[in-house]
Amino acid sequence: MTQTTVNSKQFNPGTMLVDGASEVLNFVNGKFVQSRAKQFFPVMNPGIGKQIAKVPLSPGIEVDDAIKIARSAFSSWSALPIKERAQVFYRYKVLMEKHFKELADLIQEENGKTAVEANAEIDRAIEIVEFAASIPQLAAGEIMQVSRGVECRVERFPLGVVASITPFNFPNMVPNWTIPNALVLGNAMILKPSQFTPLSANRIAELLKEAGLPDGVLNIVNGAQETVEALCDHTGIEALTFVGSTRVAKAVYIRATSHLKRALCLGGAKNHLILLPDANETMAASNIIASMTGCAGQRCMAASAMVAVGNVDHIIRLMCEEAKKVIPGKNLGAVISAEAKKRIEGYITEAEQQGAKILVDGRNAVVEGKQNGFYVGPTVIDNVQPEMRIAQEEVFGPVLSIVRVKTLDEAIAIENANPYGNAASVFTQSGGLAHYVMERASAGMIGVNIGVPVPRDPFSFGGWNESKFGACDITGKSSIEFFTKLKKTTTKWNPESKVNWMS
Ligand code: NAD
Repeated sequence: MTQTTVNSKQFNPGTMLVDGASEVLNFVNGKFVQSRAKQFFPVMNPGIGKQIAKVPLSPGIEVDDAIKIARSAFSSWSALPIKERAQVFYRYKVLMEKHFKELADLIQEENGKTAVEANAEIDRAIEIVEFAASIPQLAAGEIMQVSRGVECRVERFPLGVVASITPFNFPNMVPNWTIPNALVLGNAMILKPSQFTPLSANRIAELLKEAGLPDGVLNIVNGAQETVEALCDHTGIEALTFVGSTRVAKAVYIRATSHLKRALCLGGAKNHLILLPDANETMAASNIIASMTGCAGQRCMAASAMVAVGNVDHIIRLMCEEAKKVIPGKNLGAVISAEAKKRIEGYITEAEQQGAKILVDGRNAVVEGKQNGFYVGPTVIDNVQPEMRIAQEEVFGPVLSIVRVKTLDEAIAIENANPYGNAASVFTQSGGLAHYVMERASAGMIGVNIGVPVPRDPFSFGGWNESKFGACDITGKSSIEFFTKLKKTTTKWNPESKVNWMS
C-alpha cells in the first residue's frame, strides 16, 4: 500500500493516496488520520460524473475515540474567556477570505454548483463567522438586585461536546452554521459531514487549526448511518444538531432524545409561493425562477410549488422566458448524483402522465463536454393537482409545479396543508394582501416578493412543522440558546441587613 499525504495545496484537503486513489481522512486531535473503516463511499464530481475520492464509513469505535479527545479538549477550551475564543474566529474569517477561491472551487468540485453559487455560499459562510465573532456581545449574562442585599445573576455555560451532522447541499455553509457559534460559546464538536461532500469540511478544519483553534476542539468523523447512530447513542455527546431530509431528521431526533440529548434536527421542505395577479411582473418572474433553479433546486429554501391565484398567465409567460435562459452547465449546476437525476425526472414524467402540462421541460439535459454530468434543466409544470405526488413531496431539483386556484384563501389552505414548513412566499404589490399571507402561512420563514427568504444573522434560520424538530433555531441569536445552558446564582453578602430568607 502506498501512502502519500496530500495537503490542500495539491487540491483535495485532508486526503491521502492509497494505491493511487484519494482517500478522505478523519480529523481527530488536530491531525488527519486514516479511518479503520472497511466500507467506503465514492465521492463524485457531479458536474462531470467522475469519482474524485472515497470516504470512509467510520465505525462506532472511531466516534468513541474522537469523543474522548473532544471531552479532554473541552475542559481547557471552555475555561478560556469567551472573547479569547472569539479571536480564533476573527482569524478564521480572514483565512476564509484569503482562500476564498479555493474554498469555492472545492464546493464546485464535490457538489456541482456553478461558480456564482459557490462564491455566494462562501460569502454567506463568512457572514455567519462574523456573527460568531460578535457572540461575546450577545452572550453576556444578567444581574439584578432582586431583594435587599440579594442579587440574582444568570450566566451562560457551554454544554460540552456537541455533534453536528450536515447534508450535501451546502458543504461549506452548513458546517459553518454550527461550528463557529457552538465553539465560540465554549463547546467542543464532532462534525459528521455528508458522505457526498466531505472535502470542504476537512479544509474548514485545516483553516481553523491555522487560525489557532486548539487540537481536539473540532473533530471530524466521516461516515453515514452507522456513524450518526453512534453519535446519537453516545453518552459523551450532550447535544446534537442535524440538517438533512425529514425522514432522517425524525429518526435522528427520536434516537438522540431517547438518549436524553438536546437535539435540533432540521429536515426537508416543500416551499410554496403564492402568486397574485397584481404582482410586479418582472420582479416576480425573475425571483421565482431564481428560487427554483438556484443550486439546481437543491436548497431547502427553493421554490417548489407555486399557487397561482386567478389570472396570472402574463407572469407565467415571463417565468417561462426566464427559465429558458437558465442553461445546464452554464448558469445551472449539476444535481448531486445519477440517482437524484433519475428521481427528479421520474417526478416530472409521473406528473405528465397524470395530466399536468409541461411548459418548460428539463429532462434529458446533456452538457457538451460533460456528457457524464448529472444535469436536469429547469422545468415548469402547469395544471398540477394538489394531490399529485409532485405537489406534495420534496423534489429537490430545478422543478416548479404550478397549482391553479381562484382565491387567496384557497392558496393559503394549500400551503397550510403541506406537512413541511420551512419557507413560504407571496408575490403582490398590496401590503394588505401580503400581510394577510404573512399572518396565515404555516412556515418558519416568510418572504414578501422574495423567492428565497433566508434570514441573515443575527436573525435565525429555522422552519416549522416537519421541517424542524426540536426547540430553538440553528443560527443567529436563537442558536445561543441551543448551544448553552444557564446557571442562576443568588448571592447575599451583607449580614447586617435584616436577616431572614431572601430579605
Ligand atoms: P440526508 O438526510 O440524506 O443526509 C443528511 C445527513 O444524514 C448526512 O450526513 C448523512 O450521512 C446522514 N444520514 C443519511 N441517512 C442516514 C440514516 N439513515 N441515519 C442517520 N444518518 C443518516 O440529506 P441530504 O440528501 O444530504 O440533504 C438534502 C436534504 O437536506 C433535503 O431534504 C433538504 O431539504 C435538507 N436540508 C434542510 C435544510 C434545513 O435547513 N431545513 C438545509 C439543508 C438541507
